[in-house]
Amino acid sequence: MAINLNLADAAIREKRLGSITGWSGDLKEIYECVSCGNIKNQERGFTQAGLCQNSCAASMLCSIRDAAVILHGPAGCSNVGSGSNVIGRQAALRINKTYESVVYGDDMNENDTIFGAINSLKALAKKVIETHKPKALFIVNSCASAVIGEDIDSLVNELKDEYDIPIANVNCEGFKSRVWFSGVDAIDHAIIKSLVKEPKEKRDVVNFINFFESERKYLTEIFEKLGVGIQFLYLNSTIEEIEHLSEARATVAICSTLGTYLGHALEQKYGVPFLKTINPMGMQGFETWFKGIAKILDKEKEAQIIIDQEREKYIDKINEIKKKTTGLKAVLAMGAGYSYEMARVLQELGIEILWLSSGHLDPKQDGDNIPPAIEFLGKNSPNNFGTNISDNQNFEVLNIINENKPDIFFSRHPGFTVWAIKQNIPAVYVGDEYLAFGYKGTLALARMIDDAITNRSFEANLSAHTKLPYTDWWFKQKHTAAYIKEV
Ligand code: SF4
Repeated sequence: MAINLNLADAAIREKRLGSITGWSGDLKEIYECVSCGNIKNQERGFTQAGLCQNSCAASMLCSIRDAAVILHGPAGCSNVGSGSNVIGRQAALRINKTYESVVYGDDMNENDTIFGAINSLKALAKKVIETHKPKALFIVNSCASAVIGEDIDSLVNELKDEYDIPIANVNCEGFKSRVWFSGVDAIDHAIIKSLVKEPKEKRDVVNFINFFESERKYLTEIFEKLGVGIQFLYLNSTIEEIEHLSEARATVAICSTLGTYLGHALEQKYGVPFLKTINPMGMQGFETWFKGIAKILDKEKEAQIIIDQEREKYIDKINEIKKKTTGLKAVLAMGAGYSYEMARVLQELGIEILWLSSGHLDPKQDGDNIPPAIEFLGKNSPNNFGTNISDNQNFEVLNIINENKPDIFFSRHPGFTVWAIKQNIPAVYVGDEYLAFGYKGTLALARMIDDAITNRSFEANLSAHTKLPYTDWWFKQKHTAAYIKEV
């Protein structure tokens, strides 16, 4: 179903894509269910804290270099602002650019939730614009401002009449969705509607949606060989650059969960092709992804030369370490965009997947296709394995680790990794989204695995002196059977 850009807000993933946050079964089952389009959410009888889409949206907006962000809510909702501002500054320094963005929280209190805070929000917005002269202003709402029905839309229209900069409200109150990535969709929606301009010309640029661009230099070099520059998003981008996204030759994403809304919306509204393949993690991922980009750019011969060079440079070293990684058994717990992709990379290194836990599941993407990584594993995985959907429910992951007793555990959230280590299981934290990027990244990942399985003293010491907060009773339960059911 097409993205509806006429709506005031982005439709949340549960409604738009049928996304779920609770489920348990195996790879074969999940592949069949998403292929038939009949996977259903399973509700938990008990839930630990999850993540909030508001903080997801706020952190992404703060990574733009010359905007102002006002977080309209209680101080607690705004806590992500200061850290994101620091990340933005450091990222700009890394590429020798200035960072001029500011982030404000308006600290709604009990009086505000009774009498409203739209007037103080208006005063703050005016002060922020006049003091900092940002290139755009984003007003991000919260549960408190949404519950009392603050009319931010009207305020934004009023401010637009007074100031000649793009001003957008981003409606991403936490209670609206259990999928925190809905916050990314909320900012993409606001940006497409309020900032991106009609194209004046086509430019030799590819929009590249990623998180922290640690391989910016390497990517810039290999894309230069295809004759195109890269517009990285949103970290280190400027409002002016964002206004020209419609002029790019293509949009690609490091993670399809991250890029689905903006990529499909740019394709739908401006005809900018969005690449829909498995992501560039691992060797097959990189080749498929890079060839896909080259096809759009009509640079397939140039891409093949680059792929051959990369393979030749790294393959012997990867194969050397693969002798040690082959036969290892792994459990992994990651977000929806990386879990199934990373399982494929681990299989390339000869590792057997015992269990995969994914933060949520989008059974389809905005182009109506099923997630390419699940399709790939469904068709090519050498073994079936257990899988569940679990939105950062640590207690489930501990149970899964205990039940499967893997040789190694992988996560993309540091809060998970420590629980494996406390159970004396070596763990690899895939925090950098480029850790397994292409041949180069596959070698880096293989080396990290080798380190983790070779030096075992840290897990041994920590687990020997740790008392886990769960009882033996919990570890004897099948992790979901007791409390999760379809609704
Ligand atoms: S869930 Fe609501 S109250 Fe909690 S941090 Fe998010 S926006 Fe604030």
